[in-house]
Amino acid sequence: MKDYFQNYINGEWVDGDAGRVDVINPGTGEKLAEHALADEADVDRAVQAAKRVHLSGVLTAMRPIERGRMVQAMGRHLIDRIDEIAPLLCLEQGKPLWEAEREVRGAALYFEYYGNQASTVEGRSIPLGDGFFDFTHNEPYGVSAQIIPWNYPLEMTARSLSAGLTTGNACVIKTPELTPCSNWVFADAAQAVGWPPGAVNILCGWGHQAGAALSEHRDVNQIVFTGSVKTGIAIATAAAANVVHCVLELGGKSAAVVHDDADLDAFESDIRWGIYLNAGQVCSAMSRVIAHESCHDEVVERAVNIAKSLSVGPGIDRAEPGANMGAMVSEAQRDRAAGMVVEAEAQGARVVTGGRKMNIPGAFLEPTVLTDVTPEMTIAQEEVFGPVLSVMTFRDEADAIRIANGTQYGLVGGVFTRDLDRATRAARQMRAGQVFVNQWFAGGVETPFGGYGKSGYGREKGREALWNYVQTKNVAISLR
Ligand code: NAD
Repeated sequence: MKDYFQNYINGEWVDGDAGRVDVINPGTGEKLAEHALADEADVDRAVQAAKRVHLSGVLTAMRPIERGRMVQAMGRHLIDRIDEIAPLLCLEQGKPLWEAEREVRGAALYFEYYGNQASTVEGRSIPLGDGFFDFTHNEPYGVSAQIIPWNYPLEMTARSLSAGLTTGNACVIKTPELTPCSNWVFADAAQAVGWPPGAVNILCGWGHQAGAALSEHRDVNQIVFTGSVKTGIAIATAAAANVVHCVLELGGKSAAVVHDDADLDAFESDIRWGIYLNAGQVCSAMSRVIAHESCHDEVVERAVNIAKSLSVGPGIDRAEPGANMGAMVSEAQRDRAAGMVVEAEAQGARVVTGGRKMNIPGAFLEPTVLTDVTPEMTIAQEEVFGPVLSVMTFRDEADAIRIANGTQYGLVGGVFTRDLDRATRAARQMRAGQVFVNQWFAGGVETPFGGYGKSGYGREKGREALWNYVQTKNVAISLR
C-alpha cells in the first residue's frame, strides 16, 4: 500500500500547498499514510480547471448516452480495483473489511444507476397557441462543489460525483481529512475512462481552509454538502452570499416506533443493522427505539443480546459478514460518544450494556444499549454518531409520533407493525424524508434520500437528485 496520496487537480496528481495530513488507522491507533492538503490556491486551481472544461462546452456537447457510458465505466473501474480499495477504506475508516467491500460495491452502483439515466434528463414542450414553439431543457450548473464526510467517504463521493457528471457538470470534490485516501480511486477512474482534465478534481484539505474556500468560491455554481448541521449552516451561508444552489445532507436522530404487534424476531436484525453498522456512524442510524410499553422489556432484552453478540475489533480481521463491529473513526469521536453516555446516565438513563471504551488499542466503544431515556434528555435529542441505542417507551400512537418527531432533525423514521393502517398513518405523520416500514434501511440508490428540519434540504439518490444538478432553461420561439 502507498504511504502518500496526492490530490488530483486539472488531470494531474499534485502535492498540496498546505502540506500533508497524517491519516491514522483507528483500528490500531497507528499512522497509516499521509495525504496532501490543499490550501485556498489549490482550491482555486481546481475550480478554474473545472470552469475551463465547463466553458469549453466539451461535457455538454457530448451526446448524453455517451456521457452516461463514461459514468458507468467509472463504476466498473471501482469494482475492478475492489481488492485494493476495500482494505484501504477499512484501514483508514475502521469498518470491518466486508463492510468496506460492500461500500465499494454501493459506490459502483451509483455510477451504474445514474450513468444509465443520462439520456433521460429531458425537457418538455409547452403549448403557447398559434405562432409559438416553446420548450425547456435542463442545463448543468457548471462547476459542482461536493464536500464529503468521513463515515462513508466512497459512497458519499460516488452519489454526488456520478449525478454531477451524468448531468454534464465539472466536479470539485473536497474529501474528509480523516478518511481521504480511498478517494484516489475516483481520480484513477476518471483518468482511466478519459474525462478531460478539470472534469473531475479530488482534493483533501482542512474543512476551515479548503472546505471554506471551496464553498465561498465565486466560480462555484452549485454545492452539495454532506456532513454535520453546524458545517451545513456555514456552507448554506456561503452559498447564499454567492446566490448558489445548495443541497444539504445533514445528521439525524432517527426513531423506530415498535408497536405491540410487531414481528420482534425480524426486528432483531433491524437493531443489528440499524445501530451497529459502521459502529453507528451512519446519518440514518436507528439511534432511538420507541417501543410500546407492552413489548418494551422484550425489545431491550433482544437489543442487549445483539449488542453482546458482536465481536468488536480491528476491521481488517473481520472479513466475513456476521456478528462483528469495527472501530469508530477516531479516538476523539469515540470519546465524544462515550462522554454522551456518561451525560445520559447523569440525566437518569440506565446503561444496560456497553457504554465504555474498550481496553485495547484503537478507537473502540462497546456496543451500547440505554434504557429509561426520556424525550428531553440530551441523548434523545442529539446525534451520538456511535454504537449507542436509546430505548424509550410509549403508551399510544399519538404519543409515539410526538416523541419520534420531537427533535430538530428529520432524516428517516421507521414503524414496525403488522397493521397496514397504523403503518400508513405513521408514514404520513412522521416528519422525515423517508419512512421505513418493517425494515430499517429499506430502499436503495433508486429511492430519494434527504431530510426534513435540520437534517437538511434537497435530495440525493433516486431520480429526484438529478434535478439538483441542472437548471431549467425555457426557449420560446415566435414562428411569425
Ligand atoms: P463535518 O461537518 O465535520 O465535515 C464534513 C465535511 O465538511 C468534511 O469534509 C470537512 O472537512 C468539511 N468542513 C468542515 N468545516 C467546514 C467549513 N467551515 N466549510 C466547508 N467545509 C467544512 O461532518 P463529519 O463529522 O465529517 O460527518 C459526520 C456528519 O455527517 C454527521 O452529522 C452525519 O449525520 C452527517 N452525514 C449525513 C449524511 C446524509 O446523507 N444526510 C451522510 C453521511 C454523514
